[in-house]
Amino acid sequence: MSEKVQVAKPEAKRENKVSQTQKTGPSQSISSPVDRILFLQRIIGNRAVQRLINSESLLANGASGLIQRKPLSSSELENVINKKEAELEKLRKKAAELQDQFLDATLRARNKEFEKEIVARERKKEVSESQTTIHKRNVEMLNKTVRVIQSDKVIRLIANMQITFKGLSEKDGRKNAEKEIPRLTKTIRDAWTVELTQGEFSGYTFSIEPRVMYRLPAESADSNAWQLEIRAKADDKPSATLHFGWKGMIELNPNHLKGDRIVTVAHELYHLFGLYDEYLEIGKSKTNPKKLMRVGRTDPSGRADLLGLVDPVVLKKRFEKGEITKEQFDLQTKGKLRVWEEDVVSILSALAVPTPTQKKLEDTKKKLEKSSKDVTRTKVLMNSMEWLKTVEAIIKIEAELKELQKQIGQSH
Ligand SMILES: [Zn+2]
Repeated sequence: MSEKVQVAKPEAKRENKVSQTQKTGPSQSISSPVDRILFLQRIIGNRAVQRLINSESLLANGASGLIQRKPLSSSELENVINKKEAELEKLRKKAAELQDQFLDATLRARNKEFEKEIVARERKKEVSESQTTIHKRNVEMLNKTVRVIQSDKVIRLIANMQITFKGLSEKDGRKNAEKEIPRLTKTIRDAWTVELTQGEFSGYTFSIEPRVMYRLPAESADSNAWQLEIRAKADDKPSATLHFGWKGMIELNPNHLKGDRIVTVAHELYHLFGLYDEYLEIGKSKTNPKKLMRVGRTDPSGRADLLGLVDPVVLKKRFEKGEITKEQFDLQTKGKLRVWEEDVVSILSALAVPTPTQKKLEDTKKKLEKSSKDVTRTKVLMNSMEWLKTVEAIIKIEAELKELQKQIGQSH
């Protein structure tokens, strides 16, 4: 059952009479006795409420029975009537106070919910405005295709992915998919798993867990999944593999699935997160007659760059042509090509994944909110039981007074 104490909402549908006065936004609350009883029935159950009412009416019958058996003189009667009227006055006051307290508690709970909504909305806006590294379009796509799972030590992105083989029949496509999906999954998992050792996320292990499904070429792409389209023709031109990062789409040269060249797919994922290539041709000059290349970012700790040039076949060709050094070649082919942790931090902040400090704060806040909700719920329940008893007592005394008035009429 929901913890929400905003009890008026369901009633607004059931009770036409009250709904009109209650549909006034976040401050709506229970106002009529009917609502209160319906509320109690929902909280403690219909039987419990019935028992309460029955016990009160038993008392009421017993009391009025007593009055009938023992005739009183008119002055005695007036005395009793006065006392009863005073008591009735007191009870009515009590019922009114209880109703005020009740409204106060439910109103406060409602306003709190409303405030929380506003705060959450503001925070989301703040995050989306503050992140500059990764384009908003990519974030929008990622929010649809990737699910974040965060525990105390692990942040895992579950990524939906579809693979399709252009120009292949369903039979051949499925056969290929069966062969390639395990390799792709392993490649992505290996290249995109990294220990975060610095900054706010220090102590976490980050990883991507791809969930790859086969898609028929004719079938339309699932917008909630990354698309890996394997071209019909193998082609080793530099533009053979393309990415349409913000669309979540990679168009892959089939050669890039072969052997260790498959690491290209792990490189392309970087583009889905909106990051750009870090290799470039520096070009010839008078002092430098050879075409030179930068294969990736220079790193003081000597990491290979997954966002740099990674295709081993291209690296070999370039090395043989003298465009890259032996060191560069070795680093990018023998070094471990995996995502850099600082890039992961950019990705996490773009996806608004809370840092451990934020997470702890949010967890504590949630716990506090829950306990305060429980207190409100208990308060509202106790108040309603008390109110019901008071109203029962009022009804009883009103009935008794009516009878006493009758008796005093007869005795005159
Ligand atoms: Zn690239």
